[in-house]
Amino acid sequence: MSEDVETLKRRLPLLEYLRQHHWTGHPAGRSEFVGFCPLHEETRPSFYVNTRKDVFYCHGCGQGGDLIRFIQLSRRLSFRQSLACLDPQTTPEADPVAVIEQATAFYRQQLDQHPEAMFYLNQRGLHDRALIRELEIGYAPGGSLRRHLTEQGYSFDLLRQSGLLNVNGSDAFYQRIVFPLRQGEHIVNLYGRSIGAAFAHRFMPGTKGGLYAWEKIRHCSEVILVEGLFDYAVLRQVGFHNVTCSLGTHLNTDQLRQLCESSRTVYLAFDVDANRSGQRAAEQLAHRLGAQGIAVRRVLLPHGHDPNSFFVQGGDARQFQSFVEAALP
Ligand SMILES: [Zn+2]
Repeated sequence: MSEDVETLKRRLPLLEYLRQHHWTGHPAGRSEFVGFCPLHEETRPSFYVNTRKDVFYCHGCGQGGDLIRFIQLSRRLSFRQSLACLDPQTTPEADPVAVIEQATAFYRQQLDQHPEAMFYLNQRGLHDRALIRELEIGYAPGGSLRRHLTEQGYSFDLLRQSGLLNVNGSDAFYQRIVFPLRQGEHIVNLYGRSIGAAFAHRFMPGTKGGLYAWEKIRHCSEVILVEGLFDYAVLRQVGFHNVTCSLGTHLNTDQLRQLCESSRTVYLAFDVDANRSGQRAAEQLAHRLGAQGIAVRRVLLPHGHDPNSFFVQGGDARQFQSFVEAALP
């Protein structure tokens, strides 16, 4: 850090930073501007910027603070990382957020060039090209990301720190279908599903973030919660739009908070597996959510199925809907 916080903030007022990031605000009295909140989805503007104090406050999500706080929240970075973003000595090539975006773009290009990747998606019942594009699904063949990113000027150290490379310098994701996990605009993690013999699920270091694509459905009074991204994808493909995914049966505090932020009914469509672990997790979660005043229904799929396998073996949307309607409290 070459300068102190106050110097950085003086150089770039909050309003100017927001405008550089395409925020539009309208004057709302002396030294105040109001517009849509960049931190949460809303239909009426409730995000205020006070230019005299150089701070923001959102009456919708209750978040507020200075420029550094805004960067922390919007890009999900630590205080130190947020400062680094503002430091004029930080080049785009040293930006930890930019490098993940670049990796995601590279993985997306690879999807079409590796027939085994599309074959795997088809096998998992996923064939809608528009949805594959919307979810930004890519493929990590392994062995080529490091060269691609170092050619673009990213340092080996940054690639290792970001978790894209292993400690020994090889690609962390090898023969994996890759889903970027976004929080608002920014990618907070990557999920990689092995198409080979390696351990099935892998994330980058750090948080998996909140519920998948939560911004899209946070206003729904009924939501379907699934544990895997392939469950999510097939449900979206057949027309269920009020779906989200917790990436595993254990919900983190962000995810629990999101489900509880307003009163709603949550349909848990976890795996119905032989050892009952999916259903046990669903029962525990139902308990925790119930204690917060959230209505919970457990969707019971035919034995041995999760939503993905149910559709892969020929299930249809109407049948799935009937399981939702028959869901148990
Ligand atoms: Zn807000």
